[in-house]
Amino acid sequence: MRATRAFIHLDHLRENIALVREKTGRAVCMPVKADAYGHGALMVAKAALAAGVQHLAVATVGEGTGLRRGGVDAPVMLLSIPLPEEIKQLAASDLEPLAGDEEYIDALEQEASRTGKQIRIHLKIDTGMGRIGCRPAQAPAMACRIAKSKNLVLAGTATHLAVSDSLAPGDRAFTKKQIGAFYTAVEAIKAVGVDPGLIHAANTGAVTFYKNAWFDMVRPGILLYGYAPADKSGNAALGVKPLMELVSSVVFIKSVRRGETVSYGRTWKAKTGTIIGTIPLGYADGLSRGLSNKWRILAGDTLRPLAGRICMDQCMVDLGQDSGLHRWDRVTIFGGKAPHAGTMASLVGTIPYEITCNINKRVPRVYIDGPAVLKPGYTPSYSPAI
Ligand SMILES: *Cc1c(COP(=O)(O)O)cnc(C)c1O
Repeated sequence: MRATRAFIHLDHLRENIALVREKTGRAVCMPVKADAYGHGALMVAKAALAAGVQHLAVATVGEGTGLRRGGVDAPVMLLSIPLPEEIKQLAASDLEPLAGDEEYIDALEQEASRTGKQIRIHLKIDTGMGRIGCRPAQAPAMACRIAKSKNLVLAGTATHLAVSDSLAPGDRAFTKKQIGAFYTAVEAIKAVGVDPGLIHAANTGAVTFYKNAWFDMVRPGILLYGYAPADKSGNAALGVKPLMELVSSVVFIKSVRRGETVSYGRTWKAKTGTIIGTIPLGYADGLSRGLSNKWRILAGDTLRPLAGRICMDQCMVDLGQDSGLHRWDRVTIFGGKAPHAGTMASLVGTIPYEITCNINKRVPRVYIDGPAVLKPGYTPSYSPAI
């Protein structure tokens, strides 16, 4: 295996799930879209289910089918809208789509009646995210349409919050309005005699800050992967731990003299004689080039600055004159004892989601559960934490 690899701490996942379950007391749906935010969907899904998560959520039909092929038989929600020609596979893979318009609902009914197998739908209400779903006023009619379709089941009713991760006064007011609109829509569905099914709305921000948005089930993503919502105050109290630890090794070491430069563009120049280490990790692995000359990696027990531009497949680190580091020694890029992906995200003006999603397929994932290293395909069998 190559030196550059991402350790995925499933023991941290288990702890984070236990924290969310203890805090909310609700059923948990874990989004494992985008290959579990870059952590590896199948291993994360299996570990999450073993730790008491009841539902999973994906963004594409292919992601859902991948989970089924891997032996996952828990309910899997499909959060995004597929093309009409994907509906056959959606149904065959037993995915539970989020739908909020007649055309999609009717296409699902058509497929379900063709195969004779029911499709479970979650009605998606757009209360202010502005992405997908029906307007709150349309919710009762849409719920009726699903409930009255012969082969569809209204398994749940959902909305998504746009600024629940921010405590700014305007954002708080908007979130309260969204939650209120959702609540009213759910009541209106009940008032026309339809069972709304499982009611769910809470992403990471709402799990952290808005108890009245927990309803029957919560859907926190980034929190379970171990990162704070944008406003960090609430999450620090919850104490989640990041799952991803990106490591590599120093594969080449050399001394440079004062005035010598390192990497493309000659943006880094030695102010004194120093030792430069080369790391086999670059922007093609997902290490943003915007971190050039900015990020510091953990070498031994000291943070050392990257030197010069990050290349496609390699980057350089200024180890200083007396780091005591040797060729082949391990370094940590983020996570573990080094600053985590959330800190890195702030530095380049993005969010931890993008940092972990960008660590791509070229970087092997190594799954760790406490001291044990798990082989892909392994199903953790610990008992639920609570
Ligand atoms: C991605 C997603 C979530 C999880 O969001 P986080 O910010 O990671 O907590 C929840 N619900 C929906 C519909 C999503 O698309």
